Amino acid sequence: TFSIFSDIIPRIKTLAKERLSNMNEMILLKLGELVLKGLNRRSFEDKLQANIHRRLKDLGQFKVYTRQSTTYVEPKDDSCDMDTAYERMTKVFGVVGVSRARACEKDKDAILAAAIEYLDDQLSSARTFKVESRRSDKQFYLNSIQISQTVGGELAEAFPDVKVDVHKPDLTVYVEIREKAAYVHGPATPGAGGLPVGTGGHAVSLLSGGLDSPVASWMIARRGVQLEMVHFVSPPYTSQQAQDKVIELAQLLTPYCGRMIVHIIPFTEIQEEIRRNCPEEYFTLIMRRFMMRLSEAVAKKAGAKALVTGESLGQVASQTLMALGVTEDVTSMPVLRPLIGTDKVEIIRLAREIGTYETSILPYEDCCTVFTPRHPAIRPDVEAVREAESVLDIDGLVEKAMAEKTWIRVKP
Ligand code: ATP
Ligand code: MG
Repeated sequence: TFSIFSDIIPRIKTLAKERLSNMNEMILLKLGELVLKGLNRRSFEDKLQANIHRRLKDLGQFKVYTRQSTTYVEPKDDSCDMDTAYERMTKVFGVVGVSRARACEKDKDAILAAAIEYLDDQLSSARTFKVESRRSDKQFYLNSIQISQTVGGELAEAFPDVKVDVHKPDLTVYVEIREKAAYVHGPATPGAGGLPVGTGGHAVSLLSGGLDSPVASWMIARRGVQLEMVHFVSPPYTSQQAQDKVIELAQLLTPYCGRMIVHIIPFTEIQEEIRRNCPEEYFTLIMRRFMMRLSEAVAKKAGAKALVTGESLGQVASQTLMALGVTEDVTSMPVLRPLIGTDKVEIIRLAREIGTYETSILPYEDCCTVFTPRHPAIRPDVEAVREAESVLDIDGLVEKAMAEKTWIRVKP
């Protein structure tokens, strides 16, 4: 029998290729939490689809539609760049799994041919496999168990080195019989999770060049929030490279967060005023209060409802419980600190995962590090800090910085 198979398999494979070359491949996105949304579900799905379309715009024409908690991304012609499309879909919030599937005729032989052609490499390298089938078209002449048995049996013949194991297979081959066509695909790779950007409103994120704030921004965007960034610069104490690095960080976030505006706010005068007029132990705290005021002003203009920072409890003197209280004393907006309970090691792991790590560790100065007090207050009292900064023309300084603010639009 061996010689017969070695003769037949290449022929099946060639036949499969010929038969399928014009059939479309597609990307299946498994939707995450948004399937739990009741009445809102439709608007979540619409948002997701709009986000997907925007991410695919330069890669060709795609048809995007949702059925039964799966979103289908179907290329309209052969010129679509499927590899890049697939890669991008793994970064769309709202999606928990991404797989590439081969569409074929709803016919046992076509399905088999599709599996052989499409999953050749994976089937050749696995030791065990099984077929899992789903039939949403109940008219199809085989039920799901019969599909799995038939396709599984014939695949085992076509790939004699791989054995069927229904309990713990190396590889699961999925077959789905849907309305218009059948689909064959391998296991899904993990998606970015979360909720579609834009479903959770607007927030302003304070983006520095460090490790923490890009990760914090990513985490809030993952909960469906559209972000606008604020970055404070203190020339000549901080350099153009330091600012470019922050723009690059924002850029690195756009595959997840979508396009965004980065507001650049001049901070030199405020810092010099603080240094000239306030007690050294409060420098950082008063500076951070100004950051909050200015970010809130940006947020109000943009219709944003919260501020986001990369603060983590106890990491530095200005991130003790009391210091955090002093900082947020000046704003009535919620201050979201997604990293509050995380360790540096966890933050670094996430930064690597989302791709901001290498840029974050570039050694450029931040305005925070320009005038660091030798002995910062670690148990500051709000009243005392209010008193210490009252010698400054707070409104005037805020107004002036806002007037000198510039912005940059960052796109994926
Ligand atoms: P990061 O790693 O995000 O820089 P950090 O550990 O260095 O944080 P701080 O420098 O105290 O901590 O800053 C705390 C938070 O304040 C940052 O996470 C960021 O959200 C915000 N922040 C600090 N510096 C700036 C800046 N120059 N522009 C905008 N936001 C800033
Ligand atoms: Mg920093």
